Amino acid sequence: MDFLWLFTFYVLSIIILVSIFCFVSGRSRSRLDRIFGRAEEMLSFVLPTWLQSWFQTRSGAFVVLHLILDALVFAEYTWEVFGYCVELEMHLRFLLLPYILISVNLYFFYKCCVTDPGVITKQNVTLFTQVYGYDEILYHIGNVCKTCHLCKPARSKHCGVCGCCVQRFDHHCVWVNNCIGALNIRYFLLYLFSLTLTVLSLAWVITAFLLQVVLLSHMMTAAYVNIDGQEHVMNIAVIIQHLFLTFPRIVFTLGFLIVLVLLVGGYGCFVFYLCLTNQTTNEWYKTRRHASANRSLTDKGYSKGLKTNIQEIFLPHSFYKKDR
Ligand SMILES: [Zn+2]
Ligand SMILES: [Zn+2]
Repeated sequence: MDFLWLFTFYVLSIIILVSIFCFVSGRSRSRLDRIFGRAEEMLSFVLPTWLQSWFQTRSGAFVVLHLILDALVFAEYTWEVFGYCVELEMHLRFLLLPYILISVNLYFFYKCCVTDPGVITKQNVTLFTQVYGYDEILYHIGNVCKTCHLCKPARSKHCGVCGCCVQRFDHHCVWVNNCIGALNIRYFLLYLFSLTLTVLSLAWVITAFLLQVVLLSHMMTAAYVNIDGQEHVMNIAVIIQHLFLTFPRIVFTLGFLIVLVLLVGGYGCFVFYLCLTNQTTNEWYKTRRHASANRSLTDKGYSKGLKTNIQEIFLPHSFYKKDR
C-alpha cells in the first residue's frame, strides 16, 4: 500500500510539472498544437486568476520558481546522492561535474534575464529598420506599432507582456522574465544547452549510483517470496519497486530529470534548428499556419547560409554593424 501511495504521488507530481511546463513554454509548435491548446484551456479553468496573471504580466515569479527547483534538485543531490556515492568510492570528478555545469547554466540564465533582447526605441529604430528587408508577407513596410508609435522593423514584434517592440522577436519567456530577441537569443540557446547537460549529468550520476546498489547487493541473482509464500527470481519491476521504496526521493528525482531532459533537450534542438535556418519561433509558427494558403511563403526566408546565420545569432552586434 505504501508503494501505491508513493507511486500515485510520484505520477501526479510528474503530470503537474509537465502540464505547467507545457502551459508556460509549449506555445503550440508542432502537431501537438491541439493537445497543448486543450491543456491550456483546461488549466485556465483550474488555475486561479492571480496565477494566470503571472503569464500575462512581467513578473519574477517563474524566475524564483526556476531557482527553487534548481535548489531542491541540488539539495537532494548534495545531501543524499553525493554522500552515498562518496561511500561507494565513486570518482570525485564525476560527482562534481553537475556543480560545474549548473554554475555555467546559472550564468547563462542570468544573462538571459538581464540582457536587452533588442528593445526598439526612438534612438535605434532607424538602425534596426536597415537590418532586414520587408518580405511583404509576414512583414510589411510602413507598419507602425499602435502602442509604441514607432515604425516596425522587419522581423520585430510587439511583446504584450513587456510592453515594447523587440528586434528579431522570438518569444516571451516567463522562465527568464524577458523577451528572447536579436541580442539575447545566443544566451538563451547556451542556457538551454547547459541546462540539458546539467540535467543529463545529474541523471547519469544517479543512474550509476542505483546500478552500483543493485550490483553490490546482488539483487539480480536474489529471490523474493510473494504473499502466497512462493519464491520468485527478482525481475526488473520488483527491483525498481524495491529501489523506489528504499530511496524514494532519489528515484523520484531521477524520474523528474528524465522527463526534464526530454523536454528541455527536445526544445533546445528545436531552437537550434531555428537558429541554423534563421527563423524565429514566431515566424516558424506563422509560416506553418499560412503555408497551405500561400505555399511560396516557405521559400522566402531570411537565411543567408549556415555560417552567416550562426554569426547573426552569436555575434549580433558585429552583424548589425556590418549590415549598416
Ligand atoms: Zn510596440
Ligand atoms: Zn516580452
